[in-house]
Amino acid sequence: MTHSNSVRLGFVVIVAVVSANAQSADSASREAPLPALQRGSAVVSSYEQRQIAASFVQERLAVWQERLRLKDWQISIVMARRSDLKPKTLGATHWDKDKKCASISVLDPSDYNLSFRDILNDLELTIVHELVHLDLAALPRSEASRSNEEHAVNKLADALLALDRQR
Ligand SMILES: [Zn+2]
Repeated sequence: MTHSNSVRLGFVVIVAVVSANAQSADSASREAPLPALQRGSAVVSSYEQRQIAASFVQERLAVWQERLRLKDWQISIVMARRSDLKPKTLGATHWDKDKKCASISVLDPSDYNLSFRDILNDLELTIVHELVHLDLAALPRSEASRSNEEHAVNKLADALLALDRQR
């Protein structure tokens, strides 16, 4: 996943000049330490795990898009390898709020060292996290507001999933 729409790295001026969509295109990551190593029992092959995970994330995306009233967004999910994501991140989103389209990158199951059940739980957390970013996409963003936004998004996503899993 490239960061062509990103406004990090001091390219703000260049992006604003060359892109008519610079105001609406943006990105965010889910920054978190990689969950601690656990010896999960590998009952299915990594190919099968990826297939199961791919349909799981589509299903959970549909559920959370409905719950968060984001059905008017076109959202795609990509399985990204660790090397495709920024260091210390487990997911990323690039979006265009005017076009209401977004691409969410989630970490490929083969790059997790967790049991498969825990991998699925973490993939769902990434999806909820990135969707909360989309809910906030209408708010003004700046380099200074990013870490506060990240903190708020982490808390909201954790709370939403905790409520969901209580049932
Ligand atoms: Zn984030």
